[in-house]
Amino acid sequence: MADRDTTVDDKPSRNFIEQIIDADLAAGKNDGRVHTRFPPEPNGYLHIGHAKSICLNYGLAEQYNGKFNLRFDDTNPAKEEQEYVDSIIDDVRWLGAEWEDRLFYASDYFQQLYDWAIRLIKAGKAYVCDLSVEDVRAHRGTLSEPGKNSSYRTRSVEENLDLFTRMAKGEFPDGTRTLRAKIDMASPNINLRDPVMYRIKHASHHRSGDRWCIYPSYDYTHGQSDSIEGITHSICTLEFENHRPLYDWFCEALGIHHPQQIEFARLNLTYTAMSKRKLLQLVQEKHVAGWDDPRMPTIRGLRRRGYTPESIRAFCERIGVAKFNSTIEMAWLEEAIRADLNDRAPRAMGILRPLKVIIENYPEGKDEELEAANHPQVPEMGVRIVPFSRELWVEADDFMENAPKNFYRLTPGREVRLRYAYFITCKDVVKDKQGNVVELRCTYDPATQGGNAPDGRKVKGTIHWVSALHAHSAAVRLYDHLFKTPFPDEVAESSEQGEGSEKAEELRAPGSMLTATSWLDNINPKSLEVISDAKVEPSLAEAGPGAHFQFERLGYFFTDPKDSQPGRPVFNRTVTLRDTWAKESAKK
Ligand code: ATP
Ligand code: MG
Repeated sequence: MADRDTTVDDKPSRNFIEQIIDADLAAGKNDGRVHTRFPPEPNGYLHIGHAKSICLNYGLAEQYNGKFNLRFDDTNPAKEEQEYVDSIIDDVRWLGAEWEDRLFYASDYFQQLYDWAIRLIKAGKAYVCDLSVEDVRAHRGTLSEPGKNSSYRTRSVEENLDLFTRMAKGEFPDGTRTLRAKIDMASPNINLRDPVMYRIKHASHHRSGDRWCIYPSYDYTHGQSDSIEGITHSICTLEFENHRPLYDWFCEALGIHHPQQIEFARLNLTYTAMSKRKLLQLVQEKHVAGWDDPRMPTIRGLRRRGYTPESIRAFCERIGVAKFNSTIEMAWLEEAIRADLNDRAPRAMGILRPLKVIIENYPEGKDEELEAANHPQVPEMGVRIVPFSRELWVEADDFMENAPKNFYRLTPGREVRLRYAYFITCKDVVKDKQGNVVELRCTYDPATQGGNAPDGRKVKGTIHWVSALHAHSAAVRLYDHLFKTPFPDEVAESSEQGEGSEKAEELRAPGSMLTATSWLDNINPKSLEVISDAKVEPSLAEAGPGAHFQFERLGYFFTDPKDSQPGRPVFNRTVTLRDTWAKESAKK
């Protein structure tokens, strides 16, 4: 899938977009300029697919010493909101793309687009059509049949000018007339069958207010906006391939700068949804807590989960660009954040499911301060003090009463190492009336301080722990995939069968059936687990919001930017240390 392998001389080979740009530069096109843009529609929050587009466009501008614009394609007054504009600006900046002073809005070009529409009318290339939406559709034809000319197609230039200017003045109600490009109703490309350029819509726009009551269509706006900004390479996703001839037609008919459109495959990821419509539905129907729910594939969600811009950029770099649609495994995204945090997250100890340990031969009332490295491979990150005492918390999972031989953790009679501390041996198990293990009675060897025995004896297991006397209580949120199947769109008797069915076939357990009837049925009911009383080492108590840690053996955690406060930390698990999902499925 990645279009990037290594050539003989070990330079990364050029992906197909770079090859096109190289050729354009060699041919002296655009005076040697490279100018790209990211053109979001402000009708939702950005997701990881948009991040791919941002990294691609900004990356190319950087690589070729070119420029990058951020432009809102805000042609639809009904669905667009300032809230989305603000969040998009913030997310693009967070990802590290820089547009300098080039933040634009297609709505700022409304006057220019209107003047150009007049020019096309005067050239006999556009006409006012009175067909209703349904009639326009009925006249359009199909893939196998040509369309039919509208009876208004032969209106005179004068009549078209008169009607169009009156449309703009607000003389006609919504939906009564459109301005259409006069191209070819028999074209095999349906986008060229006299597409609509303007609709009447008496609606307030988030920027232009009530200045306009006619709005240009996306297709009439997008290409010319690129042209106005001097964009050289308009990079977009594959579904716009069939629109390219239309964008070309407008630029040629108007005789304006002609950017080159290049299409690439959009990013799809397993175990999640990526369409804005579905993400909106998840938010509105409260399947998630909001756009920034850490389970969402939105940039907001990923940020709150503890993803870094570096990890997202590395992921986008790694998946590369391709010309075919495919689905990338979520595990790749998780691997990218693991790799980034492994280098930089300080280590700490926390216990998610606490089990009490009493060290019987450790003096009561005594405690000591042990030194622990903040990062085993990065001494510059320094050390911290971890208190030790007679009563500890350990992870309940790290104990098994009747353990098999290869269980190298706590079990009666077996010696284990407490990380940074001592060797201990479990002597006795205390249970409640129901038979649940509530406490372990252990002994320690004082000669093993720091984790090594002077007599050279070895232990196989090392577990983490927290001194019960000094532990701080914290809330922890553990996340799993938002959907329980890799292709949530695949449902029985589906009308919304998604892409990547072959891959779905491959990943689905053999013989398993599709039982869900709606993609919503595939939501994972166990995607969030809240632990209200985890025990963490005292150094974590004052962690401010937005800090990364590796809890030894448990994963990478991020103090929630909204809910966490110094003294009352809330930890979101960004990712486990290993791909536990892959391990689980391998077991099955
Ligand atoms: P809509 O259906 O609402 O238009 P969209 O996801 O295309 O949704 P835009 O705001 O139009 O949203 O997208 C902005 C840019 O991001 C476009 O250039 C689009 O091609 C690109 N983009 C959107 N989704 C993906 C994706 N999954 N992978 C890569 N690029 C994407
Ligand atoms: Mg779009």
